[in-house]
Amino acid sequence: MNEFPDMSQRIRTRFAPSPTGFIHLGNIRSALYPWAFARATGGDFILRIEDTDVERSSQAAVDVILEGMAWLGMQPDEGPFYQMQRMDRYKEVLAQMQADGLVYPCYMSMEELDALRERQMQAKQKPRYDGTWRPEPGKVLPPVPEGVKPVLRFRNPTEGSVVWEDKVKGRIEISNDELDDLVIARPDGTPTYNFCVVVDDVDMAITHVIRGDDHVNNTPRQINIFRALGKEPPVYAHLPTVLNEQGEKMSKRNGAKAVTQYRDEGYLPEAMINYLARLGWSHGDDEIFSREQFLQWFNLDHLGRSAAQFDEAKLRWVNAQHLKAMSDDALAALIAPLLQQRGVAADALADGRLPRICALFKDRCDTTLALAQWASVFYADVTPDAEEKAKHVTEAIWPAIESLRAALATCDWDKAAIAAAFKAVLAEHGLKMPQLAMPVRVLTVGTAHTPSVDAVLELLGREKIAARLRKA
Ligand code: GLU
Repeated sequence: MNEFPDMSQRIRTRFAPSPTGFIHLGNIRSALYPWAFARATGGDFILRIEDTDVERSSQAAVDVILEGMAWLGMQPDEGPFYQMQRMDRYKEVLAQMQADGLVYPCYMSMEELDALRERQMQAKQKPRYDGTWRPEPGKVLPPVPEGVKPVLRFRNPTEGSVVWEDKVKGRIEISNDELDDLVIARPDGTPTYNFCVVVDDVDMAITHVIRGDDHVNNTPRQINIFRALGKEPPVYAHLPTVLNEQGEKMSKRNGAKAVTQYRDEGYLPEAMINYLARLGWSHGDDEIFSREQFLQWFNLDHLGRSAAQFDEAKLRWVNAQHLKAMSDDALAALIAPLLQQRGVAADALADGRLPRICALFKDRCDTTLALAQWASVFYADVTPDAEEKAKHVTEAIWPAIESLRAALATCDWDKAAIAAAFKAVLAEHGLKMPQLAMPVRVLTVGTAHTPSVDAVLELLGREKIAARLRKA
């Protein structure tokens, strides 16, 4: 009956997104922590797609979730499981609960419910179902109306309270008289959200539910259903919201980007993991760490209690630190396909220069796209920045540029020889280094702001220099 094995001793976490739109950074952080906790403890991480809102769910949204997780290397150990494919199981549990008297049919119509709510609001009471159809010993239920299909309601305990030790929020206690009898199946027999979540968390043997705190109100209801099923509820950790830069809840409507867009904008998955990890969790003062360190360090004891605010400038900075820390060969392997996308031929890239180009420029780039932009001038044409050209490449400097071009056509090809050629031309024309280096940079690389000019020229190669140090 149960397709999931009993793993009572093992830590099992899950990410349970609803595929109703794209997945932004706030959403993916809800995946990061359960994933990291499972990895840090040698447990299992399960992906469950909560697609019961058929109108709003789409396969395209599922694909984006999978793509984002794959990019970040957050592979689930099990799943994706789709709730829509588990309907038979939910119905089976419902039938059992009905047989055990844990749920009861309720025939109250929408109109009656509205009227009830109206009366309660007028009496300044909290709107709640009043238990009209809840069977009790000695209670006479109203006559069953004809032709009405009932909903099934869960018999919530009326006494006592639900208490849990939330790993983020601390002890939470909700009195049962705050909770009415939840509808757990609609008139057509389809199960409702909170019920499916519990059946899944039971069947999948989830030990730790780490999710957004927009679900904290569901938790006492879910705990009561767990107990009714004779199961101990998992440990809960409700993560504070991620706010956007304006301090609003992150959402597509107010400009949040899909996770995969950051991939396309040149962010490294390592950096994204690092940045997201810090958005609600800390390890001392550590700001920059690797995936391995994060997975070693992560636990539920250092989750932040207050809402975290997204800061793109900080993300860029984190990305820059990870770029800088990468080996030149690894960076070159990332940059090569970006250059090919820009039309550079694969064999042009095979000449071994790319790792050295990456080494020279990685310090001044905060994304792989920026690095690819620099690298492209070594393989493709360059268009000098018009303003910089006007400023640095003056008529007066051309004779010196011509001399340099002639010297570079015949000198040995290494940094020292190029530097010596510069020196000789400067002496010949009575110039200072910047007076010549600036225009040469603008003409050869497109801008005056580059690393050491002899290193750049060496990598650029004699031919490209001869072509670029020419009056148009
Ligand atoms: N499907 C819910 C959501 O996307 C998550 C439910 C849960 O984690 O329990 O918000």
